[in-house]
Amino acid sequence: MLAGLALQGAPEVADTYIKPLGTIFLNLIKMIVVPLVLFSIIAGVVSLEDVKKVGAIGGRTILFYLATTACAVALGLVFANVMNVGAGFTLDTSDLSYEPAEAPSLIDTLVNIFPSNFVQPMADATMLQVIVIAVVFGFGIIAAGEKARVVVEFSEAMSEVCIKIMRGIILVAPFGVFGLITPVIASNGPEVLLPLAWLVAVAYVAMACQIAFVYSGLIKVFARKSARFFLKGELPVMGFAFASASSVGTLPLNMECAEKMGVSKEVSSFVLPLGATINMDGTAIYQGVCAIFIAQVFGVELSLGQQLTVVATCVLASIGTAGVPGSGMIMLAMVLQSVGLPVEGVALVAGVDRILDMMRTVVNVTGDAAVAQCVDAMQRRSAARKERTAAA
Ligand code: ASP
Repeated sequence: MLAGLALQGAPEVADTYIKPLGTIFLNLIKMIVVPLVLFSIIAGVVSLEDVKKVGAIGGRTILFYLATTACAVALGLVFANVMNVGAGFTLDTSDLSYEPAEAPSLIDTLVNIFPSNFVQPMADATMLQVIVIAVVFGFGIIAAGEKARVVVEFSEAMSEVCIKIMRGIILVAPFGVFGLITPVIASNGPEVLLPLAWLVAVAYVAMACQIAFVYSGLIKVFARKSARFFLKGELPVMGFAFASASSVGTLPLNMECAEKMGVSKEVSSFVLPLGATINMDGTAIYQGVCAIFIAQVFGVELSLGQQLTVVATCVLASIGTAGVPGSGMIMLAMVLQSVGLPVEGVALVAGVDRILDMMRTVVNVTGDAAVAQCVDAMQRRSAARKERTAAA
């Protein structure tokens, strides 16, 4: 901000010498997002094999995870639309190579999800098609069984490699963000940052509602416990998640607290690690809110079909997001690409990413813990039912 203010008289200096740092950063994100999504989704689908082994626990967990994440994105989109997250501010897009695309119809969108070519979607970074390829290959690998062992190991290893590279990119993010924000402030003035405060407010409100209504409701209905009991027991986990911005880092504490609140080891040791990898409700809310914010700021009207595409990609993007700080922002690039919004939009929100990351991680881990409570209670009830029928 200070550099941008200092260069307000000479924005071309910022454009020539500082902006390239930001461009390199965005290029790195665009470079990693395709292999990251491809391999993490293949590895995710392949791990469904293990889900089958754990039977009812597995099925219930996956259903809860998908339902809560879909709720989360929907909540994010509703709040972003109702609270007009990017209102009152339109960025000058003349210096972007971006042309708002004509929104395709819903049927076209559906048909276009299925690629006719294996390589093209990756070259063009058409993310929905990349996801379809990953899912199809994931199930192919499962069907091939033992013979595909080497592909499973390769995909898992590549997903790990991509996560490491992503961590590296996140490490240099401060320089990238400097390179992105300075020229924006130099040419538009500091008021350009005001909308970001509103973005943070909208995202926080939506995330708080996810905890207050969706999780508390689940705990009441399925775990038959009071929301107060759950939130009190979960408080240390939330604090740790807020400070660390990492679901994976918070996992040991989450398991400990879940067990203290009475969840069996059998359930907590399956549900929570899986959740820390695939269930990211806070990230999904953030991506939904940011997609609307970026669309509004760039003056793009998202049709209902496109908003539904955002829901689907946010669910998938959050599954592919690693539980480490900042990874949700990298996956935001994929959500933007899926509806033809400019990836440059990431630049706008990158400056406040940490503030958003802390809260979305709180929601991510709380969601895992709530599902663990529900699955555990349901397991106990069905075991008791079985015992009763056996005795009768
Ligand atoms: N930091 C988040 C987590 O670990 C992921 C994200 O960046 O959205 O849960």
